Amino acid sequence: MSLRIKISSINLFLIKSKTFILMNDEIIILGSGGGRHHVRTQYRATGGILLKIGGIQTHIDPGPGAIVRINQYKEDPTKTELFIVTHFHLDHYNDLAVMIEGSRRVLHDKNHIYYRKGTLITTKEVVKNLSQYHLNMLEQVHILNATKSIQYKDLKLNGTKITHADVEGFGIIFDLNEYSIAYSSDTTVFEGFGKQFIGVDILILNLLRPDSVICRRHLSTDQVLPELNKISPPPKTLILNHFGAYMDSPLSQKNFVPSQVAKIQALTNIERVIAGEDGLKLNILELLS
Ligand SMILES: [Zn+2]
Ligand SMILES: [Zn+2]
Repeated sequence: MSLRIKISSINLFLIKSKTFILMNDEIIILGSGGGRHHVRTQYRATGGILLKIGGIQTHIDPGPGAIVRINQYKEDPTKTELFIVTHFHLDHYNDLAVMIEGSRRVLHDKNHIYYRKGTLITTKEVVKNLSQYHLNMLEQVHILNATKSIQYKDLKLNGTKITHADVEGFGIIFDLNEYSIAYSSDTTVFEGFGKQFIGVDILILNLLRPDSVICRRHLSTDQVLPELNKISPPPKTLILNHFGAYMDSPLSQKNFVPSQVAKIQALTNIERVIAGEDGLKLNILELLS
């Protein structure tokens, strides 16, 4: 009897702590800009995305200024344990070494043995271009691609396909028991693009260009709309992000972001479409309703 009480109180504690984690799960936009103009001007920041899910802090695609933005938006770089760099483009990998080094307060013990901390999930090209010094700081390095899955604690990480110039890379689905989040990374539209995200609750889409402003290497709204309609059931929330100079910058005629949100909302079954903004913090529970 007393054992049963003990076990049920442990279960209750587990349920409570799980709920607590869910309530605190967040997506933080450390940069809503993509491409070289925003890298140069920082008109929209290029720091990537911080995910706090399942008790794990993950930094995705830490582009130029990531270390500045994470501090500016009052987040703690020392809490990051998972680094994900989807491809070897400057607006995605530039601050990786800074973030690895910035994820610890103490570098080494009194014998100058470096503490190993953190896991990097990326491509061979990124690993090749990261210094041995920083690679040695990490506990683990994994190569991901569209056909692979990696288990990291409670997270199942599934690679998704991209076609993006000649660079090797991947999109990624973060699958927890309670929900899943996908990040498209940079890509053009291809057969089967949308179907990769069937069953995903929240999709973060790198939408560089508005309407029919076609780019050979990135998505535009009109190109991606038919693919979004192939995701059935649709995601509960779509987050548009990584806007290029044609979308919103001193070079564009206006800020096209609001009109793209309205267009996608009108022409798909996705009920909640959100535009990324620098420093935006989104509570995941609210995105799942
Ligand atoms: Zn990019
Ligand atoms: Zn890219």
